Amino acid sequence: MNNKWVYLFKEGSKEMKSLLGGKGANLAEMTNLDLPVPGGITITTKACNEFYKNNKKLSEEIVEQIYEHIKILEIETGKRFGDIENPLLVSVRSGAAISMPGMMDTILNLGINDKSVIGLANKTQNKRFAFDSYRRFIQMFGDVVLSIPKYKFDYVLDDIKENKNYQNDTELTKEDLEELIETYKKIFVKEAGIEFPQNPNEQLLMAIEAVFNSWNNTRAITYRNLYNIDHNIGTAVNIQSMVFGNMGATSGTGVAFTRNPSTGEKYLYGEFLINAQGEDVVAGIRTPLQIYKLESIMPDIYNQFIEIAGILEKHYKDMQDMEFTIEQGKLYMLQTRTGKRTAEAAIRIAVEMVNENLIDKQEAIMRIDPKSLDQLLHPTFDLDTQRKAKPIAKGLPASPGAATGKIYFTAGDAVKAAKSGEKVILVRKETSPEDIEGMTMAEGILTSRGGMTSHAAVVARGMGKCCVAGCDDIYVDEELKIFIVNNEKISEGSYISLDGSLGLIYNGVIKTVEPGISGNFNTLMKWADDFRRLSIRTNADTPKDAQAAINFGAEGIGLCRTEHMFFDESRIFSVRKMILSDNISDRENALEEILPMQKNDFKEIYKIMGIKPVTIRLLDPPLHEFLPHTDDEIKKLADSMNINLYLLKEKANSLHEFNPMLGHRGCRLLITYSEITKMQIRAIMEAAIEVCKEENIDITPEIMVPLIGNVKELKYLKDIIVETAEKVKNEKSSNIKYLIGTMIEVPRACVTSNEIAEIADFFSYGTNDLTQMTYGFSRDDAGKFIGDYKDFKILDSDPFQSIDTVGVGSLLKTSVKLGKQTNSKIKLGICGEHGGDPESIKFFNEALLDYVSCSPYRVPVARLSAAQAIIQER
Ligand code: PEP
Ligand code: MG
Repeated sequence: MNNKWVYLFKEGSKEMKSLLGGKGANLAEMTNLDLPVPGGITITTKACNEFYKNNKKLSEEIVEQIYEHIKILEIETGKRFGDIENPLLVSVRSGAAISMPGMMDTILNLGINDKSVIGLANKTQNKRFAFDSYRRFIQMFGDVVLSIPKYKFDYVLDDIKENKNYQNDTELTKEDLEELIETYKKIFVKEAGIEFPQNPNEQLLMAIEAVFNSWNNTRAITYRNLYNIDHNIGTAVNIQSMVFGNMGATSGTGVAFTRNPSTGEKYLYGEFLINAQGEDVVAGIRTPLQIYKLESIMPDIYNQFIEIAGILEKHYKDMQDMEFTIEQGKLYMLQTRTGKRTAEAAIRIAVEMVNENLIDKQEAIMRIDPKSLDQLLHPTFDLDTQRKAKPIAKGLPASPGAATGKIYFTAGDAVKAAKSGEKVILVRKETSPEDIEGMTMAEGILTSRGGMTSHAAVVARGMGKCCVAGCDDIYVDEELKIFIVNNEKISEGSYISLDGSLGLIYNGVIKTVEPGISGNFNTLMKWADDFRRLSIRTNADTPKDAQAAINFGAEGIGLCRTEHMFFDESRIFSVRKMILSDNISDRENALEEILPMQKNDFKEIYKIMGIKPVTIRLLDPPLHEFLPHTDDEIKKLADSMNINLYLLKEKANSLHEFNPMLGHRGCRLLITYSEITKMQIRAIMEAAIEVCKEENIDITPEIMVPLIGNVKELKYLKDIIVETAEKVKNEKSSNIKYLIGTMIEVPRACVTSNEIAEIADFFSYGTNDLTQMTYGFSRDDAGKFIGDYKDFKILDSDPFQSIDTVGVGSLLKTSVKLGKQTNSKIKLGICGEHGGDPESIKFFNEALLDYVSCSPYRVPVARLSAAQAIIQER
C-alpha cells in the first residue's frame, strides 16, 4: 500500500498529534465530536520530512493525495476548487506537534483569483465581501509565501483611508477595494518578480511548500534550540474550507478561553470582532469586544458557543483556548488547544477541576510545572509595565523575582542607604561572605561575574532574593561607583530594575506586585505531601530563613552553614584575631568571645524548629576569607592584638592560597584549628540542652563535618566532637542524644563510603562540591564556558543546576550502595543546590535518599517535584 500522506479531519483524533500536529489532531477530534468544524484535510508531519528528503519538493505521490482529498472536500461543500461560479476557498495553516511561534501561521481565502472573485460576489450577492477577501489574500500570500513585507501593502491601504477620511477598514467601498486589488497586484510583481498566480492549484502548492519551508526558518530553529525541541519532527499543514467572518453584521470572529488564563477563574474569557477575519483580532487593527458582549448581539450564537466550550473542556479535561468564526449567523469552530496559563491560574484550575470531578489529584499534581511556582513566591513585575520597557543588559537568571532600587557598589553603602529608608540594589563584580549584610538589606543583587552557584546566586536564592549574576554585558567599577553598559555610565544612586527570572536589567523603575499564596496553592501542596516519599528539608542559617522555610512547609534543616555566623560585622574582628594569633591560648580567648554569640544563633534556630531535625555543619569556608583586607583593618587588628603591623601583614600573606576551593577549608580547617571545632560543638550542645529545658522538648542535634575525603579525617574529628559533647553533657547533667554525620562531597569519599559509613550516623551529599570535583569545573568560574558548552551541545544543562546523573550521579549511587553495606540504618540526604531542582529531585528519589534540602523559597518546588517523582514512577 502507498504511504498515507493526507488525512481528512474525520480520519484523525487527538491522539495523533505527532502525525497530524496539534492543530490537525484537535480539528479531527472536534469533527468527531460533531461540533461545527468546516471540512478540511491535514498533510502529515511525515510529509514534511519527506519534503526535506526530496530536496524541498513535494513528491508526486503527496501532490496526488492532496488533490484527491480536495475532491472529497468539494463533494462535502458542494463547491469546486478553482470554479469560476462557485469557488471553494480554503485556509492554509501550519501546525507542529508542539505549538511553535516563529513558524508560518495562516493564509486565508486561498483559491480566489480575478475570475472567481466575480463568481463569489454573484453567489453571495456581496461584491464588497468578495473583493475584500481577494485583497486580503493577495497581501497574506505575498507576505507569507514570498516574504513581501506587509507594510508595503498597508501603506496603500492607509493612503486610501486617509484620502477618503475613513476611520475603519469596514468603510472601504467595493470600488476602493477593486482599486486596491490592482495596486496590490502591481506591488506583488515588483517585489516578487512574478505575476500573482491565478491558478488555485499553483497557489495551494506554493502555500504548502511555504509552510514546510518555514519549519526551518531561523526563528523556528532558534525557538527549537531554546526549548530543546527535536528538529526532525516536522510540521503538518491544515487545509480547511473557508468560512467568512467578514460577510457583514451577522458575521464575525474571535478567540476565547474556557477559564481566565491569568487567574484561573471559571468563566468564558475572550474577545471578538464583528465583520472581520481572523487576523484582524490578532493584529490589533481594530479593538475587539469582550466575549460576554456577544450575548446581547447574537444570543443564540453566544449560548451555542458556551455549550461547545463546556463540551470541549469536559472532553479534554483541561482549560481550552479556542478560535471561532460566525458566518452569517452560523457558528464554526476553527481551533481548540490546551490554553497556556500563569502558575496562579494553573493551580486554581487544577484544584477546581479535582473538585469538579474532572481530574484526579495525581493528574492535578502532574499538571503543575514545579519551576513555575517561583512566580508565586517572589515579587514580580507588573507585566504591562515590563512589556513596555527595554532591557539594557542580560545576565544569568540566578534567583527569580523582581527588584527595583537605587544602585550601590559596596555592602557598606548599600546598608547605609537601606537603613535610611531607600530601596537598594547591590551591584558588585562578585559578592563574598562579607557582603551578606548588604545583600540582606538589598532588594536585589547584580554581579558581573560568577555562575549559577556563585556566592551571590546561592545566597540570593537562599534569601529568596532577586539576583542577576555573571552579567558580562556590564563593566563594574566599584571604586568609581559606576557601571558601564552599552557605553553608557550608570552611577551610584541611579534607579535600575532587575528581573531575576529572566536575567534582565532595566534602567529606571518598573512597578512590582507582591506574591500571594492562595488557599488553592496550599491545597495542592497538601495533596503533593500525601504522595511523596522524600522528606523536604531546607538550607537555612538564620532564624528568618528557618521561619520562611517552615512557612513553606519544610520538615527540618538539612544544612545550617555556620560560616555566615562568623562573618557578622560584630564578630569578624574576633574571628580574625583567632585566625591570626600565634598561640593556642590567644586563639581560645578569641573563640571565647564568639562562643556566646554562636550559641545564641543556634538557640534561636532550635526554638523555631522545635523537634524538627536540624543539621548543623561545622565551619567550611576557605581560610583566606577571614583575612582583613584594608590597611585600616590590619592596623586596628594589630593594635588590638598588640603585635607589630608588619608581622601581622606577613602572617596574613602566608595564609594566601592559590586554589582556595581545594585549599585549607572544611574538615582540614577543623583539624588544624581544633579549637574552632570544640567551640562549635560546645555552642551546639549547650544551645540544644538549654532549649530542651526551656521548651520542654527533646532535640537531637545533628552535627555535620564538611569535606571528608578519608575516613581518618572523620575519625580524628569525631573523637574531638564526642569528647567535647560528653563534657558539655556532664557539665549540664544532660542525657541528650546527638548524631554525627558527614557531608559526602569529595569523590574519594564516595568510593570509600563503606569505610566512612561505619562511623557516621548520616551522609549529606554536597553536590555543589561533588560536581566541582568530579568534573574539575570551578564552581565560581564555570559560568564563563558552560553557555558555550550548551550551545555546542557538549552539555544539555548546567551540571551545577541539574545533577549530572551519569557521572556525579553514579558516584552518588555508588556511595549509597557502599554506605548501606556497612551501616544499614544510615540516613541519607542531599543539601547541594540540586536539592531544589525538579529534574534532580527525580533522580534523588530514584537513588533512595531519605530527604532533599533546599533553600527556603524552593521548598514548595521540592514538595511538588518529590510527589511528581512518585507518580511518574507508578
Ligand atoms: C555542597 O558542596 O554541595 C554544599 C552544600 O556545601 P557548600 O555549598 O557550602 O560548599
Ligand atoms: Mg560543599
